[in-house]
Amino acid sequence: MSQFDVTIIGSGPGGYVSAIRCAQLGFKTAIIEKYSTLGGTCLNVGCIPSKALLASSHHYEELQHFADHGIEVSGDVKVNLEKMIARKQAVVDQTSGGVKFLMDKNNITVFNGVGSFESATSVKVTKEDGSSEIIESKNIIIATGSKPSSLPFIKLDKDRIITSTEALKLKEVPKHLVIIGGGVIGIELGQVYLRLGAQVSVVEFMDRIIPGMDAALSKELTKVLKKQGMKFYTSHKVQSVERAGDVVTVKAENAKGEIITLEGDYSLVSVGRRPYTDGLNAEKAGVKVTDRGQIEVNEHLQTSVSNIYAIGDVVRGAMLAHKAEEEGVLVAEILAGQKPHIDYNLIPGVVYTWPEVAAVGKTEEQLKADGIAYKSGSFPFKALGRARAGGDTDGFVKILADAKTDEVLGVHMIGARCADLIAEAVTAMEFRASAEDISRMSHAHPTFAEAIKEAALAATDNRALHV
Ligand SMILES: Cc1cc2nc3c(=O)[nH]c(=O)nc-3n(C[C@H](O)[C@H](O)[C@H](O)COP(=O)(O)OP(=O)(O)OC[C@H]3O[C@@H](n4cnc5c(N)ncnc54)[C@H](O)[C@@H]3O)c2cc1C
Repeated sequence: MSQFDVTIIGSGPGGYVSAIRCAQLGFKTAIIEKYSTLGGTCLNVGCIPSKALLASSHHYEELQHFADHGIEVSGDVKVNLEKMIARKQAVVDQTSGGVKFLMDKNNITVFNGVGSFESATSVKVTKEDGSSEIIESKNIIIATGSKPSSLPFIKLDKDRIITSTEALKLKEVPKHLVIIGGGVIGIELGQVYLRLGAQVSVVEFMDRIIPGMDAALSKELTKVLKKQGMKFYTSHKVQSVERAGDVVTVKAENAKGEIITLEGDYSLVSVGRRPYTDGLNAEKAGVKVTDRGQIEVNEHLQTSVSNIYAIGDVVRGAMLAHKAEEEGVLVAEILAGQKPHIDYNLIPGVVYTWPEVAAVGKTEEQLKADGIAYKSGSFPFKALGRARAGGDTDGFVKILADAKTDEVLGVHMIGARCADLIAEAVTAMEFRASAEDISRMSHAHPTFAEAIKEAALAATDNRALHV
């Protein structure tokens, strides 16, 4: 029987990062993964493959604007979807191989199979061939992640009524892709197929897409995507999704009680994800699981059993890879007797469409609901030299600061490179910067980052320089 200090169940960004930190801190560490590849949802069917397809489809879209830059392309430009998907898979394989390398480098023992609790200190690993072995461990970290969820009346056939997992490996560009759910995943994958030539319709229950983000970002993203040809049916409640042959019919009810009917050849159901604990047998170890399948944890990510912790998508909070990573590191450091801390308010959220959308801290809606007096400064990208030089003029940066102290409370941006620009806002807020602090920092010219300085100037004293 193998014995370890820490055993981690699940090798997603939460699990594998935690394993590395545990090993760095001197723990004899094991990781269990039920699939043959490491990296979990993020590396295999999430962040990385979706970004690979977004990058490829973005190249294709940009090519259609080359003429604006004086570049003439002669001959047909065609999409080879099979090759695009194969490239995506190569990126995934390389990235997952990198995780295996990191496990080996850090002397972490990898077990391939389904992990299920036998007791609070032992886990059975059942391999694909049915054989099993028992691992004994002083501490156990549950990092089993999440799976796509659906609506009770939708029968996912994974062929034409699909989840994000299938949408990452389609064999043809849909003629009409009907997306149910206007959250981050639906919108990102919608833009991929829109760029490749599909008609894309998004049906959203709430009154706006990306509803968790600041309303100004939703509004601007909707405007830009509409310009690109995406159709939106917000405040629509899906009633049924039926397939007959190659046709998928989606019926939805609008706010007036009218039923609209959309006919497509594919429907992507992207209504969120559910925590995944199937087969884990958590109850056998005494670990409390909620009705939704979420593992209950305290502020130290400790479950109802003191030597068992849980991190990432399987616990409360944002379902994001970097949130899972921070939690993985936090638990490892707690086990080592350290006193780490995560400020959940400063975990940024990003939508990798083009323009990119990114945010950190409080939205205007949250500040209003909390009764916090704030001031707001915005700056449009179209007023930036760098944005005009590149032809990426959509979007803006908005900074919300405390009305009295000037402390930055939230930063919301949509535009080119915002996924990277948001790091400046996170840094500033981590150090509790004021809007004036940011406005007095030199930003290289010409850069997209100048929009942050200008928005900070606008928030400080309404004194942006270039508008
Ligand atoms: C299409 C898509 C795009 C996304 N894009 C982004 C993005 O750009 N940025 C971002 O931050 N997040 C993104 N996400 C979300 C991100 O993938 C998740 O938040 C992240 O993967 C969660 O990490 P995790 O470690 O908690 O779990 P997961 O990555 O889900 O990993 C859990 C692992 O545990 C394994 N497992 C489960 N049960 C067992 C068991 N009993 N025994 C052994 N192994 C088990 C699973 O097989 C899996 O490999 C995206 C998700 C999707 C679906």
